[in-house]
Amino acid sequence: MNMKKRQNVMEIVKKGQTRLKKSKINTARLEAEMLASHILKCKRHHLYLNKDLAMDEEMLMTYNRFIEDRCSGKPIQYIIGYREFMGLKFHVDENVLIPRNDTEVLVEETIRLLPKDREILICDMGTGSGAIGISIVHYMKEARAVLVDRVKKTLDVAQINAIAHGVEDRVKLMESNLFSGLGKDHYGIFNAIVSNPPYIPTGEIDGLSIDVRNFEPRVALDGGLDGLNFYRKLSSIAHKFLRPDGFISLEVGYDQAQDVIDILKKEGKYSRLYSKHDLSGIERVVIAYLSKDERK
Ligand code: GLN
Repeated sequence: MNMKKRQNVMEIVKKGQTRLKKSKINTARLEAEMLASHILKCKRHHLYLNKDLAMDEEMLMTYNRFIEDRCSGKPIQYIIGYREFMGLKFHVDENVLIPRNDTEVLVEETIRLLPKDREILICDMGTGSGAIGISIVHYMKEARAVLVDRVKKTLDVAQINAIAHGVEDRVKLMESNLFSGLGKDHYGIFNAIVSNPPYIPTGEIDGLSIDVRNFEPRVALDGGLDGLNFYRKLSSIAHKFLRPDGFISLEVGYDQAQDVIDILKKEGKYSRLYSKHDLSGIERVVIAYLSKDERK
């Protein structure tokens, strides 16, 4: 009996894998297993270890629906409803960009630069799922964060994540288009303004994979004609909101680091600019401190 059930789950996974492969999903086996373990609420290796695992009729229907969703290009993270980032599980849905591993470099570098011996306040501009701001606050117990996004539904996701990680008391959610909702009382208060803004040039979005272009929010991707719109806007105003020893910390696209550094330099308000590469060697993060001349 147990044997039969075990074979059933493995057979189900096998069929799922074949179906995904036909739709040119490269990691078909892995994803077929991820969907099965999600439905069975078990770890993936338990599919192999637990002989009693079986799917009832309803589970099987759900499984097949998930497989079809995936075949249509829907990212698996939207199907299972989460993505791991900085060792934390972030809830995601189609209102938010799926956090990327590359963005961990942005978070790590920001944490490295922030003072550890006092209370600090950061701003996560365009927070999406909240992955950046919430991870920083989670790993830095003296930190508080303002998580800004202009889309209300996105902030709902960030709130779910703030609560899930027990940091809701240390984050403030703010619906605002860039800094427009942050009044003058917010001038000079942030130790860091960190952002992974939309940076894909508009004309390149249609060339992205189906998963991204048909499912992830366009507002989270589209950086205007040359992809640099948000850096220009941020650069022109962020300095007002930084503390004297504050800095901005930005994720950039694969060939944008120098352009972003140039934009920031031209503004004349920042100093000590540098970029930092990700695990693939791509310059991924740009840091800029508030210039001494700007300090009041
Ligand atoms: N800050 C979020 C992230 O890095 C969302 C970024 C975005 O939507 N461009 O995942």
